[in-house]
This record gives sequence, structure tokens and C-alpha cells, in this order.
Amino acid sequence: MSSAVMGNYGRIDLAFDHGDGSWLVTADGTRYLDCAAGIAVNTLGHGHPHLVEALKAQADKLWHVSNLYHIPEQQRLAERLCGLSGLDKAFFCNSGAEATEAAVKMARRAMHDRGETSRHTILCSEGAFHGRTIAMLAATDRPVFREGFGPMPEGFGHFAFGNMNALRDRLAADAETGHPEIAAVMVESVQGEGGAKPLPERFFAELREVTSEFGCLLIADEVQIGVGRSGYIFSFEEKGITPDIVAMAKGLAGGFPIGAVLTSEAVAAAMTPGSHGSTFGGNPLAMAAAHAVLDVLESDGFMADVRARAEMLAKGVDEISHDCKLFCRRGNGFLQGLVFNDDIPAMDVVAALRAQHVLTVPASENTVRLLPPLTLSRDEITLLLDVLKTTMDEMKAKS
Ligand SMILES: *Cc1c(COP(=O)(O)O)cnc(C)c1O
Repeated sequence: MSSAVMGNYGRIDLAFDHGDGSWLVTADGTRYLDCAAGIAVNTLGHGHPHLVEALKAQADKLWHVSNLYHIPEQQRLAERLCGLSGLDKAFFCNSGAEATEAAVKMARRAMHDRGETSRHTILCSEGAFHGRTIAMLAATDRPVFREGFGPMPEGFGHFAFGNMNALRDRLAADAETGHPEIAAVMVESVQGEGGAKPLPERFFAELREVTSEFGCLLIADEVQIGVGRSGYIFSFEEKGITPDIVAMAKGLAGGFPIGAVLTSEAVAAAMTPGSHGSTFGGNPLAMAAAHAVLDVLESDGFMADVRARAEMLAKGVDEISHDCKLFCRRGNGFLQGLVFNDDIPAMDVVAALRAQHVLTVPASENTVRLLPPLTLSRDEITLLLDVLKTTMDEMKAKS
């Protein structure tokens, strides 16, 4: 389709008219089971009554005032997110890249504030994805995102995925110079775009220890895995640790644009008036939507049921994987990856599932990502597994 819209996306030839829970519906009434959820955004699916009500009520009251004034809904959301995460202060923006970018600014500023002015480098994992701004392109090591956008800003480095020894050696060498340059280590506990790839079991907890030992900060990029997708509101909750800085976005307001950064008191102290800002950040509409999402996630038994349903999904996928031997499963909660053998392009699987009216998302390392709404029901999981099984049987027959 020729269009006045820029061609920077490879779009699927499909448009939707409305949504209904876990389903997306085209203008002619065709229904698709949405296991993409707007790329991990529609936390409560489509048209969730509590979310719709909250946004409508706020729309009648007040949309936007800017951060020239106090925004009570923002203060309440900050308290709520800090209470849930164990952090002390919240900053609001409008997207993931803005949140990770602000997280980096805050880490550098905290070092500056401490008088450790040589510390400006942010170490990231190989295969990481933290967004598309110029600085966040420097935070990924993947050439596909960077091509033609150089020069890259300085102050970013990479370490081998999940390799604690390599990371520790790097931090030790940096400390030995007497004027260390590393300000922070930034990781996703499960790489989303990287292919639903979890860090090794103990890595996150060890990372907490090692960053503290070497006097640098730990930034958790929870943009994709956060807001319940891991089975916990924050993925580090279950690991019993608290990062210094947490970036959030995608699912936080269930489809309304939002970003947030949570930090410790020590980091926040460096962010004096005028040091950073966002015109739209934390406006009453976004705050109302985020409160509504958290209302549901915090309601009795909801997260426990997410974990139970995610386990049902993982078990079912494992059985199919075991039978067909075309892929391996990895991931956490409702961020699951099906890593296909090289002779089966993940894109073909996404298309085959779509032909059966199931929407999924490709990721790197030949992975198909399942990112359903956290409200995906047991019946819908059964349906998803049936479709996956038939699709794999057909692919097996062809290969
Ligand atoms: C999507 C994503 C981002 C970027 O978010 P945008 O809202 O697209 O800017 C950053 N980090 C992670 C882990 C993501 O998945």
C-alpha cells in the first residue's frame, strides 16, 4: 500500500477495527488471538472495563497541565511504584527509550554528584536492546539497529551475555586504573528483542553484589519484562534484590504512552530542579491508566494466577517442542520465546500462526515471541497450544 506514512516499519498487511479482551478484530469481523499485545503493551488486553472507565473518567476531568505544577495522580503513582519496587523516587516520561535514556543520565549525574567524575561508562549486555534514541543505539551492540546512524556517542561498553567472570574482570581492571570509568551496568533480566533470553539463574543476584562491590550502579531495564510479565510486578522481586535504577514503560499504562524511572534516594538526590524533564511526562491521563493497570495487578490473587497460567502455557509449549523437535522454549512468565532450528525462519512461523489467526512477534536468534496480555485465559491458552501444535505438525510434514 502506497502511503504518506514513512516506510521505517515492515508492516503486516492487516488492520484492526477494535479489540475485545485477548482478541483483535478486523473491520470484516475476523478475530485474531493477540499474543503480541502491541509488543508487550496491552497488559490487560483490549477494552478492559476498569482501564476504559479510569481513562474516560480522567478525560472528563483533566488531561494535561505540565510539570510546572504538582500532579496528585503522579505523586500517588510514584508512591505506589516505590512501594512495590523497594525504591524511593519516581520520574515519569512517555516511552521506553526515554526511560532508559533518563536512567543513564541519572547514573552519570549520581556519579558526578559523588565527585566520581571519571565514571561515565554504562556497561550493557551483548544482544541488549534499550531503545532507538542515538544514545540507546550505543547501548546495543547489534549492527542492524545502528547502520547509518553513526557516529555513536561515547560512554557505552558491552560484556558477554550472562558471563559473570568476564564482567567481574572488566570491573576489576577498571578499578585498578585508580580512576574508574564505569558508572553503571544496565541489563534486562530477560532480553526481549534479544529473543526472550533470560540471564542465567544466579546472574542478577550476583550482579547486585558485584556492582556494589565495585561502587557502580545497577540499572534494571524492566521496560518489557516489568509490570507483571515475568509473573511478578517487577522481575527482580522474586530474586530478592533491589537495583539502584529501574526503567519501565511498555505495559505500565496498558496501551497509553508512558515511561517511568525509579531510583534510590542516593541517585535521586543528584536530580535537582532543572536537571531533567519531559513536557508530557506523568500527565493525568497516563497516570490514571497506570493506576488502573496496577489496581488489577495488585488485586487479590491476580499475579499468582498469572504465574499459574504462564506455567500452563510453558508446559504445553514444552510438550509440543518435545514432540516436534523444531524449536526450544525459553523465557519467563508471559514473555516466552520459541527458538527455532536454523532451517525454519521464525518469520515463516509467525506468518503460519497468523494464517491460523494467532498473532506473535519475531525476535532475534530466530525466535518467535509469545507476549500475550496477562489476562489470557486458560481456554485461550488451550486454543493457542492447539494452533501451535497443528502448525508445527504441518511444518514438520513439509521439512
Ligand atoms: C521496547 C524496549 C525499549 C524501548 O521502548 P520504546 O518505548 O520503544 O522506546 C527499551 N528497553 C527494552 C527492554 C524494550 O523492550
